[in-house]
Amino acid sequence: NNVLVRIEHLRKYFPIKEGFMQVKNVQAVEDVSFSIREGETLGLVGESGCGKTTLGRTILRLHEPTAGKIYYRDKDITKEKMLPYRRKMQIIFQDPSASLDPRKTVCEIVGEAIDIHKLASGKTERIEKIQDLLTQVGLNSEHCNRYPHEFSGGQQQRIGIARALAVQPEFIVCDEPISALDVSIQSQIVNMLEDMQQERNLTYLFIAHDLSVVRHISNRIGVMYLGNLVELAESNELNRHPLHPYTKTLLSAVPIPDPVRSRERKRIILEGDIPSPMNPPSGCRFHTRCPYATGRCKEEVPELRELSPDHFAACHIL
Ligand code: SF4
Repeated sequence: NNVLVRIEHLRKYFPIKEGFMQVKNVQAVEDVSFSIREGETLGLVGESGCGKTTLGRTILRLHEPTAGKIYYRDKDITKEKMLPYRRKMQIIFQDPSASLDPRKTVCEIVGEAIDIHKLASGKTERIEKIQDLLTQVGLNSEHCNRYPHEFSGGQQQRIGIARALAVQPEFIVCDEPISALDVSIQSQIVNMLEDMQQERNLTYLFIAHDLSVVRHISNRIGVMYLGNLVELAESNELNRHPLHPYTKTLLSAVPIPDPVRSRERKRIILEGDIPSPMNPPSGCRFHTRCPYATGRCKEEVPELRELSPDHFAACHIL
């Protein structure tokens, strides 16, 4: 498949200031490179604080990158004016209630993007487009004049999806779109996103903290730890043959429905908390928690290498 989005050595640091002095940087994303292929879902997983949300937003330039490059269809957009790309690149947020303006009706929320990008030639076309979008996400035209607080969490997320789809994007960052929702409606939203992808040939970067969510819907999965991409592989390959010690830990926490296999598998519990991205460990950032760490791991940053076709990992012992 063609590459739609490519990032090269992307970094995002947030300066921490005390008074007028810059004291330190939070190194949220550190030297991450990968490509997203047209029509695929690339899952991105890792514990909270690993930088996956910052990475998703930096790709969309909702945060400006500290260093590195972002390409869209081979065009370097790192410093481009973003308005034309906002149409192509959208985001669905984790918390729908916080991402919808409480003072605006559904019609205004979904219509805003149509207006910014001048996608309707008159009032009638505009309202038809909005109603059509609402129907597509399982709402109806009667919902048009209501406010976000009148909806359930699942319905609010449907409004967020309608807003993202309003500009007919090609690429959507789905930033933990189901983690704030009831378990009972999570699968409905995931199924809807999958249907939309089929119908519109969408490309997703699907961010989640839980491998059990992304492994079913992703073509490939990237694993992040403390700002670094530590492993990237096709979804089945990653599930069957995880290479990086951190990925093995994440996979050991995913429940297995088969009770025999479940008994056989040992859950790996990591010692300690995820270190602060303000003061990340030297060398391999995982060395403070890795059961296989050696002296080299403390000194040398492991490079992400292709260890089998299309399977990349960053670890000195592989
Ligand atoms: Fe563990 Fe060393 Fe590999 Fe890092 S490089 S994951 S510390 S063995």
